[in-house]
Amino acid sequence: MDMKDSHTDQSQFECRRCGTCCRKGGPALHDADARLVSEKCIPPADLYTIRAGERVRDNINGGLIYTDTEIIKIRSVPASAACMFFRDSENACGIYDNRPSECRAMQCRDTTAIVGIYGKNRLCRKDLFGDVGWLWEIIEAHESECGFGKINRLIEQRRGGVFSASRQLSERISYDRAVRDLTVEKAGLEKGMLDLVFGLPLERVLQDRYGVKIRRNDPL
Ligand code: SF4
Repeated sequence: MDMKDSHTDQSQFECRRCGTCCRKGGPALHDADARLVSEKCIPPADLYTIRAGERVRDNINGGLIYTDTEIIKIRSVPASAACMFFRDSENACGIYDNRPSECRAMQCRDTTAIVGIYGKNRLCRKDLFGDVGWLWEIIEAHESECGFGKINRLIEQRRGGVFSASRQLSERISYDRAVRDLTVEKAGLEKGMLDLVFGLPLERVLQDRYGVKIRRNDPL
């Protein structure tokens, strides 16, 4: 193979900055991206957490899966899948020099690098908030009440006709709502950080990803 062929073959795998992957959703963060958060290259309010055990779309293989690890992601543009940092009019990344490791690894025609890092060394809330004692205690209490191990069991029971499961799910939703409100009102947490600190609101996740609607007046 001469140099010209070699160059041509290589260039077809290089990122052409077409924006296709940016339109499919924001990346998950990994340990190597912690600096981007601590130095506020990516503001905490622009991130959200998918909690362990939560039902999510599998970006690599498609379909819905239950994630076994926590995932911290960059938000998407409202009512769109596109990463919030993608500038559609310019077809460009708004934080290109500080883009996360998944974006650096992503190549449209060769997914080897992204598949290689996709599920590994993911950044988690403990990395970000483990040293903030009061906040970490609230996060742990919230997980104990509203963790997806418990939530998934209640959903199965509800589908199986267990009468009390709807009531318990309703209680978990109320708890989730109350913790968010109190952490903002009493502890002064920035409201925009709630989805990073506690994950997306439980009621919304149950509706959007589980197809479960809990009515406020579900029978006790
Ligand atoms: S951070 Fe930048 S490169 Fe990564 S998905 Fe968002 S817009 Fe694209």
